[in-house]
Amino acid sequence: MRASGLSGIRSSLSSGVNRGNGRLKLDLHTHCGEATSLYTPTLDIVKQIVAAAKARGLDGIAITEHYNRAYGYKVKEIVEKQLHDELLIIPGQEIDKGPLHVVVLYLPDDSTFRFVGHPGYPPVKDLASEIDDSIHGLEIRNPTHDDDIDGELVRRLAKERQLLLLSNSDAHFLSDIGKYYTEIELEELCARARRVPNSKP
Ligand SMILES: [Zn+2]
Ligand SMILES: [Zn+2]
Repeated sequence: MRASGLSGIRSSLSSGVNRGNGRLKLDLHTHCGEATSLYTPTLDIVKQIVAAAKARGLDGIAITEHYNRAYGYKVKEIVEKQLHDELLIIPGQEIDKGPLHVVVLYLPDDSTFRFVGHPGYPPVKDLASEIDDSIHGLEIRNPTHDDDIDGELVRRLAKERQLLLLSNSDAHFLSDIGKYYTEIELEELCARARRVPNSKP
């Protein structure tokens, strides 16, 4: 990963890269391990994950199990080595940070992009005060938690702090992958991740 960098990740994409504007359809919050109740991904399981994502027309997904980054890296390895890199896989994990659920994405060149998953769930007294400089984005849509998210507040905070707004599935079933997704250039995600130097969780 370190050697390939962003150009490697981009050239490794075999489909969907050129929508004319460089934007990719990405679901950046999925729990594929939980969805399949198996934390050692087999080739067959990974094929099912890729098929589910492609059925929704996605270019890529982040795999963000709770406190488990190894699973995402393993899926990525299988897709790269055995499935001709046909889907972009971004390894990540979901962790607790105070009252927040923070989703961490591991990007090329050792950079990490962090966003708050479903802000408002669990309930938080003062969302603004919980968001520090380590955060790069906020989820604005999440099919399970749309009702918990105060859209007006989240949009205002995103504007004030220059945070990216994200729509993700938070899928706990393979059929839910891509239910919501974000269209974004990989370059923008990486640039935002590099903006604040921070340590790894
Ligand atoms: Zn969560
Ligand atoms: Zn989640």
